[in-house]
Amino acid sequence: MTDDRSTAAQDAHDTTTDQLTLQNPVTRYPDITPPKQDQPEPGLDVDLRPLSDIGEHSYRGTGRLNGRKALITGSDSGIGAAVAVAFAREGADVALNYLPVEQEDAERVRDIIEAAGRKAVLLPGDLSDRAVCEKLPDDAAEALGGLDILVNNAGKQIAVDNIEDLSDEQITDTFEVNILAQFRIVKAALKHLQPGATIVNTTSVQAYQPSPTLLDYATTKAAINTFSKGLAQQLAPKGIRVNAVAPGPIWTPLQVSDGQPKEALPEFGKSTPLGRAGQPTELAPAYVFLASSESSYVLGETLHVNGGSPMP
Ligand code: NAD
Ligand code: MG
Repeated sequence: MTDDRSTAAQDAHDTTTDQLTLQNPVTRYPDITPPKQDQPEPGLDVDLRPLSDIGEHSYRGTGRLNGRKALITGSDSGIGAAVAVAFAREGADVALNYLPVEQEDAERVRDIIEAAGRKAVLLPGDLSDRAVCEKLPDDAAEALGGLDILVNNAGKQIAVDNIEDLSDEQITDTFEVNILAQFRIVKAALKHLQPGATIVNTTSVQAYQPSPTLLDYATTKAAINTFSKGLAQQLAPKGIRVNAVAPGPIWTPLQVSDGQPKEALPEFGKSTPLGRAGQPTELAPAYVFLASSESSYVLGETLHVNGGSPMP
């Protein structure tokens, strides 16, 4: 099913209008009705139908991260890829972590970063492996010549109807990738982070409104929120700021690789006040804001990017 991403500019869901142009959020993207589809976990962006928008043809940088060096986990596809594209266009060099099977998606993101004149470093590795987490920040800092921004974005989401059918292996794996990896990567990254450095963790609307089919996933997302708020206080005196972003329903490969029940896909995102799913590039400005110095007095915050669902 893989085809040439160069056709993406013509895809109805890959806009060429940049994020700074005045536009109606209801109609910025069409209200998609994704066909039922299935990909083996973790899923590939290049095989998603309709294609998502990671900002390749739309995100316009304004120098907000000039000279920064960023490590982003799960940055081959979806939200992480959109953040990587935005960071590069804002002037940052970027180290990309992803699973080895996602090499094709990662190379596409690398090419977009290099086209922006920035450095891209590919660091594949499975974050359910503690040793990989502990080594990742060192590899990123060595390849980039330092580290200023850490985005903990990798996530695993597998829907299961009944807790009786939720295997111990899945529970453990979801916790390893979604939250334990964040502890381990932060611990290993700290020696590289100087005052002014920032950490942004990806949580979810699921931390506040857990779906009955996502018990393990939603629980890790609540933990990420609490981790971020506690860590923010701990690292504040060092001049390192920690925040989180809580996406709502965003059209990414996570959703078609068992993240949602198949029959739910055509309705994905339609119950939000905006009436549509979000596109990955609509998340990017939130990460840019929290990663850059313009958010210097913002710590321990969770920024909701969810199409309008009210959150506490
Ligand atoms: P995605 O599938 O594009 O990205 C998730 C990435 O996680 C994958 O690309 C993969 O590289 C990485 N990953 C998964 N298991 C891994 C492992 N064992 N080791 C290393 N990397 C691994 O989907 P996305 O929706 O962009 O997800 C990004 C983040 O956004 C996740 O934390 C997800 O929980 C969160 N989120 C997504 C939505 C949504 O609706 N799409 C909503 C709320 C939160
Ligand atoms: Mg991926």
